[in-house]
Amino acid sequence: MNKKRTVFYLVDGAHAEILPQLINTGVLPNIKRIIDEGTYRKASTCFPSTTGPAYLPFLTGHFPGTMGITGIRWFDKKEFKRTRWSTKAMRSYCGPEAGFFNTDMPVDKPTLFDLMGKSYNLYNMITRNIPDEYDLGKKGKGLLYTRAHFFKRHHPVDLQGHERIMQMLHTGNDFDFLFAVFPSVDWDSHYHHISDERTIAAYKIADNSLGEVRAYLEKKGWWTDTLFVLTSDHGLTPTHTHLDLGDWMTAHDLKSVYYPVIWKTNPKSAVFISGNSFGSIHLLNHQGDHVLTESGILTCMGSDCLNALVNEAAVDFAVYRADQKNTFIVHNSSGQASVEYNNGSFIYKPITGDPLQLKTDINVQGHRAALETTFESEYPDSLFQIYQLFQSDKAGDIVISAKVGYDLRDFWEYPEHKGSHGSLHKSHMHVPLIYNQKNWHSHPARTADLFNSILKWKDIIPSCSEGESLF
Ligand SMILES: [Zn+2]
Repeated sequence: MNKKRTVFYLVDGAHAEILPQLINTGVLPNIKRIIDEGTYRKASTCFPSTTGPAYLPFLTGHFPGTMGITGIRWFDKKEFKRTRWSTKAMRSYCGPEAGFFNTDMPVDKPTLFDLMGKSYNLYNMITRNIPDEYDLGKKGKGLLYTRAHFFKRHHPVDLQGHERIMQMLHTGNDFDFLFAVFPSVDWDSHYHHISDERTIAAYKIADNSLGEVRAYLEKKGWWTDTLFVLTSDHGLTPTHTHLDLGDWMTAHDLKSVYYPVIWKTNPKSAVFISGNSFGSIHLLNHQGDHVLTESGILTCMGSDCLNALVNEAAVDFAVYRADQKNTFIVHNSSGQASVEYNNGSFIYKPITGDPLQLKTDINVQGHRAALETTFESEYPDSLFQIYQLFQSDKAGDIVISAKVGYDLRDFWEYPEHKGSHGSLHKSHMHVPLIYNQKNWHSHPARTADLFNSILKWKDIIPSCSEGESLF
């Protein structure tokens, strides 16, 4: 039997609406060729729909709540209340702490790099157990990324990444799994616009790279047994207004710590933002170190303050734990609804409003049915995604999903974000999913299903995963 290889292009921030437009206008001929011979579809990512946590589903088969990595920044109330000097009290993977991502992941959850055989990585921050010589982007990455960040010189990163792939191949290396991240679409979308000419140029770099890699694999006679996958970790929407959620809490008498202002004395809250449309609020002004349910939140915050928060223009909705187990309240200016997980069933009930805009009560058995019922809604996979996120206490007491057009960090975000993601909205949750195969299952897919599908390509059955093979 011929050796089965997998090439996975993660075009970070590739957009489920922009990418098909570019394909139709003919500017991405190599990706178009894959679609002509294979499949283009949409998949849903996870909540928060943000770089880092949203790599977990396809690389580990698990969601941020299960992995205890609930944002690109997170806070742990228990650790903070034990001692705020704890190295596990909070994280920001945007910077020097990025390396902790590997050790923050549970050791019993292997990645594709552990399972697939000879595996190469390019630029993805999940590098646990990857030897340096298999980490193609590592050398010189710091400087290139710094220049990209402060001078908005993004494309040299992707171009050098592609060169490293070709160097690896031309030196005669074989591989089982090649996972390559192209970060510039995300960066250009954040700092310019989702359809800015620089963003489109970034898509073209990934397309050119695919063309060259494919040509090489064809020449070697490897292409026909190669599974090629291209997807993204989240969508993105243009941002016109910033609300600084940390400052908002401080202004409402709940003095807040947040990155990078983490050393304030006697804070009453902690606010951790990802993407920047996802916010996690931890109330600290109470006895004990537990996460709060609705009644505790009302005691610590007051109903007027909670109402003021959900009525902010930037807030699409807030989600928090109800007093009953495995039940969550979704709350916005229209009112409240509940999301309940009970014996395998996912139940949605509008109470005084319908913040998830599902227009009806829902009661379905199993998380796949929950995905199917909500996949084409405003908030794809919302019922299961809310449930999985709150499995981790690091999700916080209150989670905020920002309204499209707004985000949740202002002064401390440099350079200023002109685009955002992280929320449960479909324009952040839907991602393009492209592969060079036909006739896989057509039911709604999650990016977590890629974990199982890629392993199955090599006849490997994972010992645990929250995904399912797509074929
Ligand atoms: Zn991303």
